[in-house]
Amino acid sequence: MNAQINQELQQAAVTIDGHSIELLVNAGLSTDAGRAESVADGVGLYRTEVPFLLQNRFPSETEQYQSYSRILASYHGKTVCMRTLDIGGDKQLPYFPIHEENPFLGWRGIRMTLDHPEIFLLQCRAMYRAALEYSNLSIMLPMISSIQEVEQASALLDRAWNEIIEEFGSGKVFQRPALGVMLEVPSALLILPELAEHVAFWSVGSNDLTQYLLAVDRNNKRVSNIYSSCHPAVIRSLDFIRRESQRFNIPVSVCGEMAGDPLGAIALLVLGYQRLSMSSFNLARIKYLIRRVSLTELQCLRSRLLAAPSTDAVNTLLLDYVEQQG
Ligand code: PEP
Ligand code: MG
Repeated sequence: MNAQINQELQQAAVTIDGHSIELLVNAGLSTDAGRAESVADGVGLYRTEVPFLLQNRFPSETEQYQSYSRILASYHGKTVCMRTLDIGGDKQLPYFPIHEENPFLGWRGIRMTLDHPEIFLLQCRAMYRAALEYSNLSIMLPMISSIQEVEQASALLDRAWNEIIEEFGSGKVFQRPALGVMLEVPSALLILPELAEHVAFWSVGSNDLTQYLLAVDRNNKRVSNIYSSCHPAVIRSLDFIRRESQRFNIPVSVCGEMAGDPLGAIALLVLGYQRLSMSSFNLARIKYLIRRVSLTELQCLRSRLLAAPSTDAVNTLLLDYVEQQG
């Protein structure tokens, strides 16, 4: 079985009609990286909060720089998209407790780091320091809900970059890492033209996007039956994002769990997404699936998928297709 999985992983993610799909991994620990680096096309989401969670204090700039450098080195030649600290909600640092009645609607992700520029600046400096040695870094901002947040974060990023160039650049010219945003708060979907002016790429966080579109706590078992990325509202939002990405010529990927779920991945292919990022343990099965479907055939299902009136109808349509393929 393991041999079969390994063999599958070595194959290219190409559909039967010859379309290459970019398969990236979500990572957060250097050990995740070790397994996937040779078989994934890069890291679509590096959750930087994971190393923060494993400590009993904020890591120093040098500690962060060393850990980011290790990841960039292990993915040499492939892009690593590092997300700035995304704590709050369900991700709590033991040494920085946040007590709130409604944590998923509270002080999460970019909101917390913009209120603590010293934490944000230190992290950005560490990332940029690593980027002077490795040219495969891109940086992504979590939980963006307004342009002001992007502007404020960009001003801090500019400052961090200028400081690092001055302190460590030794007069050489460096390519600055690209900046992107996560699309996971519904308000971001309604400011895509402005976001397209400010950043170089988008990545859809389908976990939070589903949670916020459906007003369903992603971790509450009592309502888990209505939490689904195959809800028509999520499917139609994803279609809108993909079309806007084409209109503004902004690369877009999906890095939520949906991309690593077989039916979710099929839905994304139907909608035209060609860059999917997932946990490394889902990589083999998604590769297996991609190598057995025709993208042209899948994209013919788009209007039926968009017309499906319920989560059940979406799932049935996708399942029927998968079953037809055997
Ligand atoms: C998401 O929200 O889909 C996502 C990838 O980020 P996280 O799961 O870390 O919130
Ligand atoms: Mg998220």
